[in-house]
Amino acid sequence: MAGSAMAQPRSRLDLLIRNGTVCDPASKMKRLADVGISGGKITAIADRLPADGGVEIVEARGLYVTPGLIDLHTHCYHGATALGVEAGPIAARSGVTTWVDAGSFGCTQADGFRKFIVAPSPVRIFGYVYLYPDNRNPDMDPVKYVRSFVKQTGQTVTANRDILIGIKLQVGSNMNGRYSYDFLKIARELCDSYKIPLLAHISFAPPETDQVMELMQAGDVVTHCYNRHTLGILDESGKVRMSVRKARERGVLFDVGHGLGSFNFEAARKALADGFLADTISTDIYNLNVKGPVFDMPTTMSKMMYLGMSFDDVLQRTTAAPARIVNRVEGMGTLAVGAPADVALLAIEDGEFPLTDSQRNTVTAKQRVVSRLTICKGKRVSQG
Ligand SMILES: [Zn+2]
Repeated sequence: MAGSAMAQPRSRLDLLIRNGTVCDPASKMKRLADVGISGGKITAIADRLPADGGVEIVEARGLYVTPGLIDLHTHCYHGATALGVEAGPIAARSGVTTWVDAGSFGCTQADGFRKFIVAPSPVRIFGYVYLYPDNRNPDMDPVKYVRSFVKQTGQTVTANRDILIGIKLQVGSNMNGRYSYDFLKIARELCDSYKIPLLAHISFAPPETDQVMELMQAGDVVTHCYNRHTLGILDESGKVRMSVRKARERGVLFDVGHGLGSFNFEAARKALADGFLADTISTDIYNLNVKGPVFDMPTTMSKMMYLGMSFDDVLQRTTAAPARIVNRVEGMGTLAVGAPADVALLAIEDGEFPLTDSQRNTVTAKQRVVSRLTICKGKRVSQG
């Protein structure tokens, strides 16, 4: 054994994050502290932790040490449509340690999702399965076709519960044409019989918002809630529809899902003015919006802060709240001792920052969120 190794007692910690402001909405913690990581878990949070045994130190002075961000709506499956982005490199620059693929794949592709997307990734990846597998025989009636996959879709989710959360469906006239409402009803039946949640994208009527809300239940998620399209949460006067409020009272959750077309400053402003804050903030990142207007999760967080939400409120909706929906890893979304060491080091910068919504409206924000370091399962996530 080398002399230097003998001279240094082995540290109890793998990584020590020094002097940051620990900010954990789940435990309502906000304090200057050191965070110790060992064996992929958070093992200590204290005013000062000793840097013994040559432990690797991350200096976090002036930064927020937060739970790793959780993006409930992404596309990180590489399918035939090639919409997916690769999670790892974007995670490295954005603080997102948990990615939820929102239905980029159908039940016939779940094995590939596990083997080629989830398993090799340095970050955590989960998914919602798309109701509609994309290898349809054009001669077959689409409703019959989807019905023929109900059993396999339900069974696929239940057999892969460790990585699959529920069913995704794009509801709107532009997605499945005149079949959209029929598909939604099929999705409802499927989710009821397999006791799994639904993630519903909303875009253009028909069906109408009230019809969609009627079919949503506790634990289901409505994504693209701040779109300005005809299938949205606002009525003609810019107020949140009663059916939407009632859905929320029943336990239906509302997600931002920014995307290429689904985040509008004016719609978000009106909803916020009417007291309607999204339950979760997500990007709907894919390769047509990763170079703008979405870019990444910190940019989407900055937009919500520009609209008046506090950093704490934004952080809660990108950590604790989506963690409850994913609900697959104990302690995920918090920084408590014993929790998995999924950590983001975030900064809030002051300056003049242009932010652009899906309709290409640009505003100038005085602050923005940036990520300085991403740690997942106790390890730094690197760009390479
Ligand atoms: Zn999407």
